[in-house]
Amino acid sequence: PIYLDHNAGAPLRAAAREAMIAALAETGNASSVHTHGRAARARLELARETVAQLCNRRARAVTFVSGATEANMTALTPVWQADGAPLYLDRLIRGATEHPSVASGGRFAVKDQTVAAVDSQGRIDLDALAHLLGQGGPALVSIMAANNETGVVQPLAEIGKLVQGHGGVFHVDAVQAAGRMAIDLDEWQADAVSLSAHKIGGPQGIGALVVRSTARVPAPLLTGGGQENWRRAGTENVAAAAGFGAAAEAALAELETTHRLSALRDRLEAGVTAICPDAVVFSGNAHRLPNTLCFAVEGLAAETALIAFDLERVSVSSGSACSSGKVSVSHVLTAMGVDEALARCALRISLGWDSGEAEVERFLEVWPAIVDRLKPEARTRAA
Ligand code: PMP
Repeated sequence: PIYLDHNAGAPLRAAAREAMIAALAETGNASSVHTHGRAARARLELARETVAQLCNRRARAVTFVSGATEANMTALTPVWQADGAPLYLDRLIRGATEHPSVASGGRFAVKDQTVAAVDSQGRIDLDALAHLLGQGGPALVSIMAANNETGVVQPLAEIGKLVQGHGGVFHVDAVQAAGRMAIDLDEWQADAVSLSAHKIGGPQGIGALVVRSTARVPAPLLTGGGQENWRRAGTENVAAAAGFGAAAEAALAELETTHRLSALRDRLEAGVTAICPDAVVFSGNAHRLPNTLCFAVEGLAAETALIAFDLERVSVSSGSACSSGKVSVSHVLTAMGVDEALARCALRISLGWDSGEAEVERFLEVWPAIVDRLKPEARTRAA
């Protein structure tokens, strides 16, 4: 079987699995002072160090949480702490194409939430954002670094400048950016970023909220014990953190070679459009992640195509996997002004650490047959 769905979740890396198995073989709570506890603490802190490096931060900037959903929920609160004093935010401004875990609004009342529009390529409309920021009190602005469906990369430095200029707090969901582009909280002027381990080849069920400064942090979501410097209560999942740390180290190293992924992605894109010249590539005219291709062929229903690919043992995705199970039209493509009929034909291919030539070749081998079967009119008439 061929796996082309890294944006939904990457296969576990061998290094991550080994780090987890080693941690699981040990006994001890990272908060205990005895030898066993100290060994668990050491593993946890080593993981914190490598996750911090992925974001070019110090270890103390990292709070381990159960995943990006929890990281987003933690950041999306109207109460932050700045230099020891409470910082109250009146409202949330979030992008129109955010993941549901941000679109849900976190701990903000519904009446205090507004949405910043995107253009036809899925990029935040900076004028619209500036306008929203100019109306009303201090805002928390939450914009993703790169979109999970289209891979479009947001103009984060420009957004951060606007947000900070208006005295707001800037949160970035960097889940899809991790390992595919540099995560730079200084350049983005981002106060916090969310990460999820399983998107970079770590285990599911762990993520992190990484802050620019420990002097500016959100009110904890989970309270109780003093774990994670009082920022997230509950006994730490040391094995998962160890796996996350190992994956982060590998993902950081791969940042040097992301052109490998973009070359494969470009081959896929060329192969798709060679067969279907009218295929629409979403966010194709914008800066995109190197690993993501989202496209549609009018009349070739994504749900049907997905099953056809699955029968050929090729795993791809239609729109967002987070909304699979229900055949709803992508809110991301809708926000970009894509009409509903075309949006229902959107297929997403996303590459990662285990993707190579063989995967691309296999996809391109089955693609013409699927088009012939489901939508022969879409096929180019070769001379
Ligand atoms: N944000 C984005 C952009 C995502 O793609 C995902 C995962 N689909 C999440 C947040 C949530 O991550 P998790 O399910 O690991 O909590």
